[in-house]
Amino acid sequence: MSDPRTEELAARLAETRERLDAALAAAGRQDGVDLVVVTKFHPVGDVARLARLGVRDLGENRVQEAAAKVADLSATEPDLARAVRWNMIGHIQSNKAAAVAGWADRVHSVDSVKVASGLDKGRGRAAADGDHPGVLPVLLQLSLDGDTSRGGVARDDLPALADHVAGLDHLRLAGLMVVPPLSGPPAAHFAEAARVAEELRRDHPGAREFSAGMSGDLESAIAAGSTCVRVGTAILGPRPVV
Ligand SMILES: *Cc1c(COP(=O)(O)O)cnc(C)c1O
Repeated sequence: MSDPRTEELAARLAETRERLDAALAAAGRQDGVDLVVVTKFHPVGDVARLARLGVRDLGENRVQEAAAKVADLSATEPDLARAVRWNMIGHIQSNKAAAVAGWADRVHSVDSVKVASGLDKGRGRAAADGDHPGVLPVLLQLSLDGDTSRGGVARDDLPALADHVAGLDHLRLAGLMVVPPLSGPPAAHFAEAARVAEELRRDHPGAREFSAGMSGDLESAIAAGSTCVRVGTAILGPRPVV
């Protein structure tokens, strides 16, 4: 606990938790919100520090970087590695999906049938090998502006993707994720995404999670009903340039 970086992370983590509590209170919500701490571009040493501070959910958005950190943490800090859950929150190429299912504990960024099927296949294989048994919870990433180059599935294609995922043996449809489009106020985007999440829940009652909100916009996401925020910069500071 004596190293300065740990103290900095602890302080920012506490500030962020206060922001979450204040946002929940302002929204008149009695429930809580999950915090995924996004460690992308930051070294595995920060992951270990966060895990020692009691952070359970970590988020990564690049497949290669994530897989390297997972392997590194398991090799160097096996107890911490067992205590954390890895959330894949970034774009997945379909040919990499099976590998992601070998280490991910939750995936927020499923946006195509191919990615879902790849994850399912990989999870089936991992279960057969005795690693990561059990189904993989996944969220469908919604593209609100239909610009799917930024990731996400267009609203019109979402129901079919949801049905596909629901039919897979090794995945569990857990909810919806959104990254708001860059233009326009995030609050309006979150409100619209919340409506889509509700529609999804109508067809798939188990899809209860709504992953929305980052460092800059978590208050408006929580006001719209977010159940899970993904926070990087507010806790880890600016991302190192690579
Ligand atoms: C990087 C990232 C975040 C965290 O963003 P911050 O602004 O650093 O909090 C959240 N969600 C996704 C999908 C990301 O890629």
